[in-house]
Amino acid sequence: MSSPVPESSQANSQRIAVVQIESPETPIKLNPSKSKLESSPSNKSKIQFREQKGPFQQLRSLLNSLLVLIFFMIPFINYQGRQAILFDVDKQQFHFFSLTLWPQDFTLLAWVLIAAAFGLFFITVFWGRVWCGFLCPQTAWTFMYVWIESRIEGSSNKRKLLDKAPWTSNKILKRSSKHGLWALVALLTGCGFIGYFVPARELYLDIFSLNASFWVSSWVWFFAICTYLNAGWMREQMCLHCCPYSRFQAVMFDGSTKTVTYDAARGESRGPRKRNQATELGDCVDCNLCVDVCPTGIDIRNGLQYECINCGACVDACNQTMDQFGYQPNLISFISENELKGEAKPVWRSGRFVSYGLALVTFVIVTLVDLSSISEIQFNILRDRQSLYREVSVAEIENTYQLRIRNKTQTLKHYRISLDKPELFELMSPSVIHVSAAEQLEYPITVKAKLADLIHGRETLQFSVIDINNPKQNVTQSSSFFSPSS
Ligand code: SF4
Ligand code: SF4
Repeated sequence: MSSPVPESSQANSQRIAVVQIESPETPIKLNPSKSKLESSPSNKSKIQFREQKGPFQQLRSLLNSLLVLIFFMIPFINYQGRQAILFDVDKQQFHFFSLTLWPQDFTLLAWVLIAAAFGLFFITVFWGRVWCGFLCPQTAWTFMYVWIESRIEGSSNKRKLLDKAPWTSNKILKRSSKHGLWALVALLTGCGFIGYFVPARELYLDIFSLNASFWVSSWVWFFAICTYLNAGWMREQMCLHCCPYSRFQAVMFDGSTKTVTYDAARGESRGPRKRNQATELGDCVDCNLCVDVCPTGIDIRNGLQYECINCGACVDACNQTMDQFGYQPNLISFISENELKGEAKPVWRSGRFVSYGLALVTFVIVTLVDLSSISEIQFNILRDRQSLYREVSVAEIENTYQLRIRNKTQTLKHYRISLDKPELFELMSPSVIHVSAAEQLEYPITVKAKLADLIHGRETLQFSVIDINNPKQNVTQSSSFFSPSS
């Protein structure tokens, strides 16, 4: 039976799923004391990884800090006296600076999300799981929680010892301080998130003064508890067992995708040695630092694994060791399979790179076209259901309609209502109306016609609503005019 998965995808899946990659030329000898089973995340109750310094960790830390800052600050940006970005659930409106989207405009959000997904796929083909390691909120919050933990409980070794230590007053103090700070960050995160849905400035005050409504408080606490559990307790388990992206990204990889890879040909056979000692061994000195710093607890020397989030900590750690031993850097590095084989080809020659790039450009264009066609006026006509027409006199007929006009902007608007056949139909209600910001007006309107001018019992007429100050904003809708004419 043929597999529904393309051959190349299967190959890539294998590339990720196979834990041990061995080649006859470069056999990998596992250190029995640090076996694959022992380093498997699923066999560890809690991973206490070492903090690592280096260029990739500086970059990750900078990007994570920026991400957290942007997440908390966006709801505090004001535009024309109101929150610039707000999903107003009560009023079913999404405010984005001067743009206000209503439920019927949400196809635009769908295009934006699809474009973002293809953007992510596009980057993944080139840079692998760079999103996971450097930009994913799960990674950012996990590293923030570990940073707090290490400031209170000390280095990874001290934390491991504290885990095993009996419950003394010192341990209780450290643990309660850590969990207290974690809870505070979780609560702030809950407020930060809900601040995108209710006005943020009042939200923080209401939550901390216990004046928030039941539902707002419930949602804030729900997201606070999720944050506390995800970043404090679940950590890498979220990436390993809950995140679908870690599972299906393998199909996006190809030979040009850069991933964190151990150069087994150069590193093996591994083994400890003294500095400057002549040896037949490969460059891996088996210091185990790459494992100690790994937030998911894996040994990258065992080959590519889906647990690897490409955070680059092992790259920094190994480069530090290489430097100490006077060896060339990048025994572990961000490198593609082709580069490792010496067969590097430009990434734009990758079919996936080109197709995801084209899809990305297409959906960006679709988004822009949809955005430019969004009208500031929503307009519907409902005919009077009580009567088809009313005979005003022997010679004149009236029809009544209910106009439903919504001003989708955030400023007061003045609209002019007009009919398409003024020689036939006469508007009997005032033609200029005023609609407040983001309001919907129900406006009853009467249209009169001379019976002698009507040829059919049902005539089509068009209503137009035009923004007096911005005539480009106008909408037209057709309806019917009924009369006893045969
Ligand atoms: S193997 Fe290296 S890059 Fe992958 S998660 Fe572990 S430390 Fe990060
Ligand atoms: S950090 Fe580098 S030298 Fe040390 S064990 Fe890992 S691969 Fe080998």
